[in-house]
Amino acid sequence: MATEGAPPEFKLALDSTAVPHGPDGIGESPFDFTAAPEAMEYPSELGDDPAIALRRTLGMFATGVTVITTSAHDEVHGMTANAFMSASLNPPLVLISIDRRAKMCNLLHEGDRYGVSILGEHQTEMSDRFAGRADEGVPQPAFEMVRETPLVEGALAHFVARVDRTYYAGDHSLFLGHVEYARHNEGAPLLYHGGQYERLGKVEPVVPELPAGLLPPLLAAGEECSFADGEQIVKLGEIGDQLFVILDGAVILRRPGHPDKRLEAGSYFGEVGALSGQPRVSDAIADGAVSCVAVHSDALKSVLAGSPEAAWEMLGSLAQRVREA
Ligand code: FAD
Repeated sequence: MATEGAPPEFKLALDSTAVPHGPDGIGESPFDFTAAPEAMEYPSELGDDPAIALRRTLGMFATGVTVITTSAHDEVHGMTANAFMSASLNPPLVLISIDRRAKMCNLLHEGDRYGVSILGEHQTEMSDRFAGRADEGVPQPAFEMVRETPLVEGALAHFVARVDRTYYAGDHSLFLGHVEYARHNEGAPLLYHGGQYERLGKVEPVVPELPAGLLPPLLAAGEECSFADGEQIVKLGEIGDQLFVILDGAVILRRPGHPDKRLEAGSYFGEVGALSGQPRVSDAIADGAVSCVAVHSDALKSVLAGSPEAAWEMLGSLAQRVREA
């Protein structure tokens, strides 16, 4: 590899790496070689500045959030970074990309160690602090020292890496680190997407499950029945007087003008017909083998009359369904 014209920190011997040579064509460009500049093409609604357009487009790549830390002259310095990636398992290598204007960029040199603390979803203030935008009054961070390297306490995962190589990357520098220490805790990560913090979405059931207080009396009052895959359990427009509680399997509810809903074990359907005597408002079709408990409207009404708490729970559950419809 040619090092002619490279900044001094890039003038290094290659024979200390685990894999001294890449495949043909990899790592062979001289440092001062840059491909002929070509204007980046992007839609006009992203504005006049290609750097901003690129940044906004790159923002669509969802990442976690880390705090990179190092200690220099007995002082701890940290900065928020989402440009962190795993590079190799054997040898264990990670890569960070740091803006050349950042203080951190001047603190890290080959042979130095840096810490990576992967933030948990509760640590947005920590991220803001190390990005230089903390509000006043935000508590000071606490650090734990591992291998003379500070790590942010309370983070989801920690690494200590020793800078193996640094690379020129335009207005950023890349620091390839050899991982010397790694550990993680249980928990949900803080995410960054489109320029803002996000959290992992939890999939909520489309329809709330049957209220816990209602389940035992309904199961006792009903009759167990089973249906084969594709079998119609309830027919749109028919008068029906049964509510069904799904014990096992899944049921598709098909209502004209609405997307299909898939109900699973613990959920129920047919309550409108059973409570009002009105025609069914949707088809209900078994999605695979299904077993249910069918509760006749008289039995349902007597369960509700005998337990005002259960009646309230049912009302709450129905209100939730109306909100979601
Ligand atoms: P400074 O700007 O001087 O310090 C950063 C902040 O950390 C300051 O407020 C400082 O007071 C505080 N701080 C530092 N050490 C301590 C300590 N020991 N105790 C208490 N507070 C301390 N930039 C990149 O180059 N690469 C990225 O991948 C990257 N990703 C980012 C991702 C997100 C989600 C965000 C919000 C920002 C990101 N940035 C990234 C921007 C970067 O975090 C900021 O530019 C940062 O200010 C650069 O830090 P610095 O090293 O220049 O130090």
